[in-house]
Amino acid sequence: MSANLASFLYLVSGVLFIMALRGLSHPTTSRKGNLYGMVGMGIAIVTTLVYATPSFGGFVLIVAGIAIGGGIGAVIAKRIAMTAMPQLVAAFHSLVGLAAVMVAAAAMYAPESFGIGTLGAIHAQALVEMSLGVAIGAVTFTGSIIAFLKLDGRMSGKPILLPMRHIINASLAIALVVLIILLVTTQSTTIFWLIVAASLVLGVLIIVPIGGADMPVVVSMLNSYSGWAAAGIGFTLGNLALIITGALVGSSGAILSYIMCKGMNRSFISVILGGFGGETAAASDDGIDRTVKQGSADDAAYLMANAQKVIIVPGYGMAVAQAQHAVRELADKLKAAGVEVKYAIHPVAGRMPGHMNVLLAEAQVPYDEVFELEDINSEFAQADVAYVIGANDVTNPAARDDKSSPIYGMPILDVDKARTCLFVKRSLGSGYAGIDNTLFYKDGTMMLLGDAKKMTDDIVKAMDH
Ligand code: NDP
Repeated sequence: MSANLASFLYLVSGVLFIMALRGLSHPTTSRKGNLYGMVGMGIAIVTTLVYATPSFGGFVLIVAGIAIGGGIGAVIAKRIAMTAMPQLVAAFHSLVGLAAVMVAAAAMYAPESFGIGTLGAIHAQALVEMSLGVAIGAVTFTGSIIAFLKLDGRMSGKPILLPMRHIINASLAIALVVLIILLVTTQSTTIFWLIVAASLVLGVLIIVPIGGADMPVVVSMLNSYSGWAAAGIGFTLGNLALIITGALVGSSGAILSYIMCKGMNRSFISVILGGFGGETAAASDDGIDRTVKQGSADDAAYLMANAQKVIIVPGYGMAVAQAQHAVRELADKLKAAGVEVKYAIHPVAGRMPGHMNVLLAEAQVPYDEVFELEDINSEFAQADVAYVIGANDVTNPAARDDKSSPIYGMPILDVDKARTCLFVKRSLGSGYAGIDNTLFYKDGTMMLLGDAKKMTDDIVKAMDH
């Protein structure tokens, strides 16, 4: 295959990746988006195999690698629970980081194979690209491992705040710049490994101070880093597809982090500097009357069947209970009885953006009944019932009314403006941010304590009576 044809095919796969991202931006086009991405990746892999594989032995090794890695990945992806997706993504990112480090090490020791010079006489430009790729890759590697451990509950989600951490991190970052300059001037492999070591430590130090509640943003940020690391290595390898893909992953990860920060009203810098999340529930001596009105499935069925408009607000608890099908059944019953039903999705409901949309789509909820926060928030005032199922933080009025709350300023769904708010959860415990929800104690709220799926099933049954 000629170099021109390979470049053309890489360009085609790059265009397909862009179309994939475009498609993934809406549920109705997301299947097509996935398909474009898969075809693009297929073209990129085949092109690389045909164009860049030096020998038959190399070809066999690559195909074996794809088969083993792909097989393991497919099994893990099939088995993983939707709620454990953020930690899976974090674990996979760590591998991207490690791969970037390994490719850079290979290029350092066998530069001839990469066409970037000879041992001890590597082109300066390649050394700069390589050192940036290896530094970002190593930060991504250890940072993602810490993120995985925190999200998977194998390490406390509480922020670990080292004394003088900002000074230590800044010093390490400066040391890295000096080491990169030294690598370019001396070509020393020792300096190369010092860059790797400093970056590995930096990856740990950047992520340990970040609390559990900010972790999904961090995963998205590490996703972005892994993209830039891949792009850096793409320059070293002279591989156009890797440069395009890395840049797409890098920029889309950065945009996603920004969207999540906006959804939580957190500045990107304050997330990176860490400290939020993992707090315990607020003390109960703040003057709020903490009596709650508890109801049963029968009460809920009566209220909903007599409503004109019901807005369903799903959250993480719906995902845990896998209650989406029961919710759909409830909505069908209500619609059949002439009740208007809509779904309201908060941008950070669940544990990753789009989490709720995916679950509702799986339960075949029509897309035109599902609304984003800004499109539906004004409608709660006209709704008879807001059915909050396993959502907590995204409905907490403290974000709107209490300046001292850690989530103050985060946009919330105004479920308290509905005539009645039916709140399904198992206890009066807090949500992910660890903050008490004053909504439980409001007059218009009826707590339906129990598992989201069981409660919804019971309401459906009660409606048949
Ligand atoms: P929350 O974590 O605030 O609340 C979920 C609630 O579900 C819990 O209070 C829990 O209460 C309840 N629950 C758990 N299991 C069940 C069950 N089986 N049946 C019934 N209820 C159950 O979730 P939200 O979706 O409201 O908010 C998302 C949180 O995640 C926010 O704090 C957000 O900032 C954070 N986050 C989300 C990101 C995203 O992109 N989606 C990114 C970053 C952060 P109980 O234990 O009493 O049942």
